[in-house]
Amino acid sequence: MNDTGRLIADTGIVPKKSKGQNFLIDDRVADRHIGYAGISKNDKVLEVGPGLGILTKRLIEVSDDVTCIEIDDILADYITQTYGDSLKLIHADAVKEPFPEFDVFVSNLPYSVSTPIIFKLLEYDFRTAVVMVQKEFADRMVAMVGSPDYSRLTVNLFYRVDCEIMETVPASRFNPRPKVDSALVRIAPREAPFKVLDERTFFKVVEVTFNHRRKKIGTSLKSAHMMESGDDVPYIDERVEHLRPEQIGEIADAVFRLKH
Ligand code: SAM
Repeated sequence: MNDTGRLIADTGIVPKKSKGQNFLIDDRVADRHIGYAGISKNDKVLEVGPGLGILTKRLIEVSDDVTCIEIDDILADYITQTYGDSLKLIHADAVKEPFPEFDVFVSNLPYSVSTPIIFKLLEYDFRTAVVMVQKEFADRMVAMVGSPDYSRLTVNLFYRVDCEIMETVPASRFNPRPKVDSALVRIAPREAPFKVLDERTFFKVVEVTFNHRRKKIGTSLKSAHMMESGDDVPYIDERVEHLRPEQIGEIADAVFRLKH
C-alpha cells in the first residue's frame, strides 16, 4: 500500500465525492507539480485542499511561508497535527474565505469548486499558480476560438493570464480513482492583450453571450437589456463561439458607450 492508501486507513477518512476527495498517490507527479511552480524559500505559498499532505509536505521543504485552506474536519486536524509547526492551516471553505496574500498558488483542486476557485484566484495579485483539474476543464481553460471547449472560462482567463497544460495525469494516479483523467495547468498573470473601456461590462458581456452560446449576440444582449434594436453594436448577427476575445471586447465597448 502506498502512503496515501495507508493514510486513508490511518486517519479513518471516508473520501467524499461532494468534497472532491480524490487523493493523489503518485510521488513523481507531486514532485513535478511543485517543480512547475518554481517556488523559492521566501515565496508566500497558498495551497487549497491539502488533504493528506502529498503536496503540502513538499511545499514546506521549498518555502518558509505556507498557508493551507482545508474544509474537512478530519483532514484539517491531520494536517495541523502532522505539519502544524511548519505552516498555517485555515480550517474553512476556500470559496468563502478571503485568501491571504500569496505569490504562488498550488492546488489539486476539488472538482466541485474548480470554477469558483479559479475565478476567485483571478481577483488576486500573484506570480504563478499550478493547479490539477479535470482534463475537460483544462481543455476549456486553453481552448481555441470556434472549438466546443471555447467558453466563458477561456475568455476570462485569456484576458488576465497565460495558461499552459503541463501534463495529463491519468485517473489511475488517484485514490479513489475518478472517472476521468486530470491535467496540471500552469497559470501566469500577464497584462491584458487588448484594452477595453470597462472591464465589468466586458465580463458581463462574456457571461451573457456564453450563457446562450448558440444564440446570436444581438438576441442575448437584448434579452439581458444591454442593448435595443437599432443600437450600433458590432457582430450582433454572429455567435460568440466564433468571436475572438478582442472582438468580444469591441462589443463590450459599444455596449458601454450606449450607457455613457
Ligand atoms: N492535495 C491533496 C492531494 O493532492 O491528494 C488533496 C486533493 S483533493 C482532490 C481536494 C481537497 O480539497 C480535499 O482535501 C478536500 O477536503 C478539500 N476541499 C474540498 N472542498 C474544499 C473547499 N471548498 N475549501 C477548502 N478545501 C476543500
